[in-house]
Amino acid sequence: ATPVSILVGTGRGAELGLLFRRGDALQRLAEVKVIGFDKTGTLTQGTPALTDLYPLSDLSENEILALAAGAEARSEHPLARAILSEAEARDIAHAPVKRVKALSGRGLRAQSEQGLLWLGNARAMQEAGVDISAHSARAAALAEQGRTPVWMALDDRPVALMALSDPIKPEARAAIRALHAAGVEVAMITGDTKATAQAVARALGIDHVQAEVLPDGKRDAVETLRAKGPVGFVGDGINDAPALAAADVGLAIGSGTDVAIEAAEVVLMGGDPTGVVRALQLSRAVMRNIR
Ligand code: ADP
Ligand code: MG
Repeated sequence: ATPVSILVGTGRGAELGLLFRRGDALQRLAEVKVIGFDKTGTLTQGTPALTDLYPLSDLSENEILALAAGAEARSEHPLARAILSEAEARDIAHAPVKRVKALSGRGLRAQSEQGLLWLGNARAMQEAGVDISAHSARAAALAEQGRTPVWMALDDRPVALMALSDPIKPEARAAIRALHAAGVEVAMITGDTKATAQAVARALGIDHVQAEVLPDGKRDAVETLRAKGPVGFVGDGINDAPALAAADVGLAIGSGTDVAIEAAEVVLMGGDPTGVVRALQLSRAVMRNIR
């Protein structure tokens, strides 16, 4: 590509809300065969809300939320914010907890006055030695609807099953349809529960899903996609940075975290995933004119 056409292309990108931080990204994007998307905050709004709360012991809903909020107040996770908002909406004071420890890709653990408190996915319950098999059908039904099941346990007994729902961005379906029309395969890479991720992928028409990926596994997930050809990856979170760096072209959602933006070569201004489509079309147009 000539320096002039790349300059014109990046200039045109700026008008379209696309920041190409490196000129050669324009060139490489034109050749991408598959694009992987992070789910939370990239394809979904990233602001989940609590939709379901099932007590599984004699603890009341308010007691459950008081404990959950006490622990989640120390977490930055989007699921934590949803639980805190629900406690606030119900005017519930946080229960005192100590020694909150994040369990990467699983949830958290904390010391409460009622016992050792565990909050998170099925893997977190497994680690706690909590038997949830009596309630797993209910969790599966929630996940089928695209909701994320969150379990809560005290010591070794399950005390609650919650579900959180994170709405799909209104433009996401059209973005994926346009990528398919452009001959690009689409994948989703997420730490979320498999059945939840599959329900979201189905609603969006996504071809490939890798779910329950631990934070340091997103890079490997990108490497796996590379079997299909050059890979683009779109993400917004701190945990997306390794995947953004590993991809042939990393594209960050502009409303995302600084860490993601720094790791990416293309920044899509605002939160709209159709920016990916505009970026792909621009890159192909520029490369066509050059050849
Ligand atoms: P993602 O952001 O893609 O969901 P994470 O690795 O951050 O990936 O989290 C993976 C899973 O671990 C979540 O879907 C959730 O089930 C559980 N989890 C993580 N952090 C928390 C938390 N603070 N509270 C409850 N569950 C959590
Ligand atoms: Mg995200």
